[in-house]
Amino acid sequence: MSGKKQVVKEIPLISVPSGDGHGVAAPIRPTTVPSQDGHDSASLSPFQIAQRQFDEAAQYLTGVRPEYLAKLRLPERELTVNFPVRLDDGAIRIFTGYRVQHSMLRGPAKGGIRYHPDVTLDEVRALAMWMTMKCAVVGIPYGGAKGGVACNPKEMSQGEVERLTRRFTHEISSIIGPHRDIPAPDVNTNAQVMAWMLDTYTMKVGHPSPALITGKPIELGGSLGRNEASARGCPYTLRRAAKRLGLSVSGASVVIQGYGNAGSISASLLREDGCRIVAASDSQGGVYNPKGLDPQALSYWKEENKTVATYPDGDFVTNAELLELPCDVLIPAALERQLTGQNADRVKARLIGEAANGPTEPEADDIFHDKGIFVIPDILANAGGVTVSYFEWVQNLQSFSWDEDEVNRQLERIMDRAFDQVMEIAEEKKVRNRVAAHILAISRCTKAFHLRGVYP
Ligand code: NAD
Repeated sequence: MSGKKQVVKEIPLISVPSGDGHGVAAPIRPTTVPSQDGHDSASLSPFQIAQRQFDEAAQYLTGVRPEYLAKLRLPERELTVNFPVRLDDGAIRIFTGYRVQHSMLRGPAKGGIRYHPDVTLDEVRALAMWMTMKCAVVGIPYGGAKGGVACNPKEMSQGEVERLTRRFTHEISSIIGPHRDIPAPDVNTNAQVMAWMLDTYTMKVGHPSPALITGKPIELGGSLGRNEASARGCPYTLRRAAKRLGLSVSGASVVIQGYGNAGSISASLLREDGCRIVAASDSQGGVYNPKGLDPQALSYWKEENKTVATYPDGDFVTNAELLELPCDVLIPAALERQLTGQNADRVKARLIGEAANGPTEPEADDIFHDKGIFVIPDILANAGGVTVSYFEWVQNLQSFSWDEDEVNRQLERIMDRAFDQVMEIAEEKKVRNRVAAHILAISRCTKAFHLRGVYP
């Protein structure tokens, strides 16, 4: 905990009985929110960080009922499940998993499933809240959710992962569904895991239900372009940001933390744009070559050797060193809280594209702002994945499929539109990009709340 005094600020309540269907006529009790100079971010949990980001943006929204904001600060529904899985040696192990539905105000809940030893309810809450914000930023008709199981799939056989997946799906099946809550891949889950989830759900409901899940194999109704989509949105926004800053993408040096789905595909796409990928890493460390790495060769190496850290065409770097390497663009594509009050000052990139969710702590955000580093926040930069998930869901509901060009064209259109809308707010309100993206998202969510009203 910091020794700083903890301060709370009141959200200014401005009564706006306007015709936009969003204002309030009568003053109501204001909500108190922690201010920027309350806790330092190292002492906050991921969900508290998500709430702090929310609160910071909420202060710029005038005329919104504080109750709407109070509701959006909290998840709508949380399910914790403890369930047994039979291991290959005959032993039975109890696993804990979660599904958090943060909001269904704008549509069915949507969000990935993470398998990782560090998964906690608090982390899943934060990720679910960011999903609500992300879907609202890009204007797709979804709310936000996230799920996860505390496990280490790297130490499990494929059969064990399948049995864990099927039992977890069974446990959460009462709250998921094509019109309720639609899961997708996240860290350590992939199209195969989605296929097992889909099959398990299908056995329960007794009929095919491809719209239950996105990020599934093409053969089961997956969308062309979905696998690359979570990464593809990031280069789209980087291109637009570079243009805005008068930088050239071609020839830019790029460092990527996390060489999984989002990181490795970002590397290949940025290389196609003429960028030089100078460093990349995974949980075991990274490799640095200022002359540039071949993303394809690096992916093959990781497949064979389970890590990029031993790649021979470059020097080993730790993950801490990697974040501080000289480069034009830094892409955190691993886990939360990698850029902190401790290391932000040593980051040399001019542009940061957050392919990961929650990689930047609030104190680091402030430092980047002071240093003039342009941050494309997670809820914008990595929204490509959920956007093409939405396309996949639409195709499933219509029993129709689009070609890949159509998917990418629509994705670029939506990403460009969201980027421009966020920039407009950032300029108008003179706020950081993350605050602007949250302002856009919260205003869309609170408008939906106002229109729907309170049941009963
Ligand atoms: P993944 O499991 O495919 O890859 C994660 C990579 O990060 C792995 O290579 C892993 O070794 C590495 N890693 C883990 N801890 C690390 C550390 N401390 N330092 C460096 N590397 C580390 O997962 P993914 O799907 O690529 O997800 C990565 C991030 O992108 C997550 O934050 C996820 O929420 C976000 N994201 C994913 C999607 C998607 O559709 N898959 C969509 C949007 C956002």
